Amino acid sequence: LHSLIVAHYGEIGTKGGNRSVFEGFLERALSASLVSLGGASVRKMDQRFFISVESDQVESAKARLARVFGIAWYAVAWTAPLEYGDILKVAERLVGGAQGTTFRVTTRRPNKSFPMTSQELNRRVGEDIIGSLGRKVDLSNPDVTLNIDVISDRAVLYTDRVKGLGGLPVGVSGRVLHLLSGGIDSPVAAWLMMKRGCSPVYLHFYVASGPEAVVQSKIVDIAKVLSRYGGRSDIILVPFAPYQLATTGIPEDFEPTVFRRFMRMVAEALARRLEIPAISTGDNLAQVASQTLSNIVCIDSGSLLPTLRPVLGYDKDEIIALARRLETFELSIREYKDCCSIVSRHPRTRMKVADVDECARRFDFEGLAEESISGASLVTYEPLHDSTGIRPLSVLLPETREGSPHEMRPVKNL
Ligand code: ATP
Ligand code: MG
Repeated sequence: LHSLIVAHYGEIGTKGGNRSVFEGFLERALSASLVSLGGASVRKMDQRFFISVESDQVESAKARLARVFGIAWYAVAWTAPLEYGDILKVAERLVGGAQGTTFRVTTRRPNKSFPMTSQELNRRVGEDIIGSLGRKVDLSNPDVTLNIDVISDRAVLYTDRVKGLGGLPVGVSGRVLHLLSGGIDSPVAAWLMMKRGCSPVYLHFYVASGPEAVVQSKIVDIAKVLSRYGGRSDIILVPFAPYQLATTGIPEDFEPTVFRRFMRMVAEALARRLEIPAISTGDNLAQVASQTLSNIVCIDSGSLLPTLRPVLGYDKDEIIALARRLETFELSIREYKDCCSIVSRHPRTRMKVADVDECARRFDFEGLAEESISGASLVTYEPLHDSTGIRPLSVLLPETREGSPHEMRPVKNL
């Protein structure tokens, strides 16, 4: 036995000539999120998606739809042929099966060739249901709203609309290189980038002895949660050790900002190589001393690619509420030895660009960035098989990304 769910997109319907591209991304996202249910199918028709699932999997399917960016709302639906009598039969069954005594009918009729107008259908179905079920109409505060959508080849009927995540399908805005830490803010920032259609490639600087140790850490657990929304997660792991060894004698109160400048430079070098047009971070203006406006200016100074900071304007409690909602919060507060806990915690709040530039020159940050990148590895979490693997960074390079099989070059030749 199969059940039907109808899913509607919101904003992407307004994108005019690009609509089919948006629909394509959304259709792939829907299929990917449902594939592990087996037996589920997705079909697009008249600017909505019809998802057919085994009836005992409706709840799991709904839980997955709740995590697909680009879906404005969805509802378990029934269909009827485009004949009044057939529509009424389904309508009576739905209203009859619902709790309460009052109802209203809301018809939409994109199919203008159906002989009754929306108003006529509302009225006639309403009257017939009053007659057969003895329910009352209440237009302003009904116990149940029966929706009837008259589309090209059928009528679609449903009562309970569930609000979706909204936003845009992941990938439709392209990729960003996202600086992921183990903290609370950067996973939320990644999620907000996905919400606007970006597909993040993560970059994490680690203190641990090697990438295998990071695979066991909360960093990959956080990426797994983010994969529920964005699909496969690629995490570029860059060792902190080269930086730590090379930079001695930096004044303690310079360290936090100088190190963040270095991370930003590594991100830029990688993004250019991978043809990723922008960087994103979990910076939040003035939340901590390293994130004052002057220090953010120092961190970005000299870089050419834009740095997007989607949580910049949120208060901490708003970020925490989002972190709980997307289910990264409990992971983020777990103990983890991050680079920023090694560099001094007491930054000067107003660093000067000239001072940060001077450190970057003195310690040859360009060269140090290359050295760090040559020690980098790529960890990939594939939600489809729930598997995590370490791959060479080269699989992300533009010339190997298209076409398969990937050329497996060692990381050092990058
Ligand atoms: P978060 O909760 O995201 O860690 P935070 O408030 O702790 O943020 P910082 O530790 O100053 O702030 O980090 C600011 C931003 O720098 C992070 O949001 C993240 O984008 C980036 N960042 C910090 N540490 C790392 C790291 N080890 N690897 C990659 N990016 C990092
Ligand atoms: Mg942090």
